[in-house]
Amino acid sequence: MSFPIDNLANRIPFLWINPHYEGTQSSSGLGLQDMLDAEARLARFAPLLAELFDEAAERHGIIESELLEIPKLSQELLPGARILLKGDHDLPVAGSVKARGGIYNVLCFAENLALENNIMPIGGNTRLLNTEKARALFKKYTVSVGSTGNLGLSIGTIAAAMGFKARVHMSSDAKEWKKQLLRSRGAEVIEYDGDYSSAVKQGREESQLDPFAYFVDDENSRELFLGYSVAAFRLRAQLKLRGIQPDERHPLFIYLPCGVGGAPGGLCFGLNALFGKAVRCFFAEPLEAPCMTLGLITGKHDAISVYDIGLTNHTSADGLAVGRPSAFVGRAIENIVSGCFTVSDESLAAFARQAKTLEGLKIEPSAAAGFPGPAMVCESDYCSNHGIAPENVTHILWTTGGRYLPDVP
Ligand SMILES: *Cc1c(COP(=O)(O)O)cnc(C)c1O
Repeated sequence: MSFPIDNLANRIPFLWINPHYEGTQSSSGLGLQDMLDAEARLARFAPLLAELFDEAAERHGIIESELLEIPKLSQELLPGARILLKGDHDLPVAGSVKARGGIYNVLCFAENLALENNIMPIGGNTRLLNTEKARALFKKYTVSVGSTGNLGLSIGTIAAAMGFKARVHMSSDAKEWKKQLLRSRGAEVIEYDGDYSSAVKQGREESQLDPFAYFVDDENSRELFLGYSVAAFRLRAQLKLRGIQPDERHPLFIYLPCGVGGAPGGLCFGLNALFGKAVRCFFAEPLEAPCMTLGLITGKHDAISVYDIGLTNHTSADGLAVGRPSAFVGRAIENIVSGCFTVSDESLAAFARQAKTLEGLKIEPSAAAGFPGPAMVCESDYCSNHGIAPENVTHILWTTGGRYLPDVP
């Protein structure tokens, strides 16, 4: 093996800069119009979500998080830099970045069913999906998903709340409290000894045998991807309120925890569609599960797994415990992701503690994966190679989960 695969195989935290970065969208077949459609659909469904969930009523059914100043943490991570934090760890209803994508995906399915069965006309009042008639239809269908925890929490919560049967296939990494929370919300949890990929496979196969089943395919779903991407519109508005208008000389560097790739991929795609080269995205992965990094470096995407280079896929970052990346996402972002880096479990724990003690933020270990990013990128030759003055950069850490994390005494 050779550099940089050696670093992955030897579990050495490192930053890989993507030599295939072009900053223009590649051939995912998706574009800005698809993002606008997704944003419009979420706006139409906001009244329904506000009706279904007290937590969503706060923003009238728009599920969104704050963009936060983190002065103390910022000073600790890279003295002198401007670092903000996009607080998806606190997203309502699902408690993680999976809220946007997961809920959007189930809404798309429900809307199609409602249209086919004359429950709601095209563009009609989405609260018609919360009526006796709609529920009588939805209860015939099973919505299922394979997950390490958070996607299951998102899909299971929205599916059960709409009256579907919800079946969540959980990998062995899934935390007990996530399974319990999900059961308390009316979903059925099926537990596996195997990893994420095998839970997804089992779920997909089971679903194929049942004509009344719909499987949310984390490895392939366009709807999930587009649901994630709408965050770019919301971030743009939040930046504007702070007077931040990025351009190529004053770019944003954004650090995104990565598992199978859907959430960071959708975010990267959306950000690139709106900001072009004014936004540079870096994906963060655990030392034992750098599947997207490996897929991108080798160009093999889902044809290679972290097991193939001797890694275990065992990590305390349960949300990122994925051994094989999504090929769909890998190809969609291979020319728009700026780089990837790896982080040790010890660092994740330390960063999550810092977030708590310095800024009072409750985040799970996965959500802290981006924290070493600003220092790693700024200490490399990335800025000089790209003609960027480091003092002009605004960094954004994207924290991806934690709202329902039980308090440990
Ligand atoms: C799922 C998840 C991610 C990464 O999303 P993928 O779509 O799996 O790449 C990051 N952080 C947390 C907390 C997650 O649950």
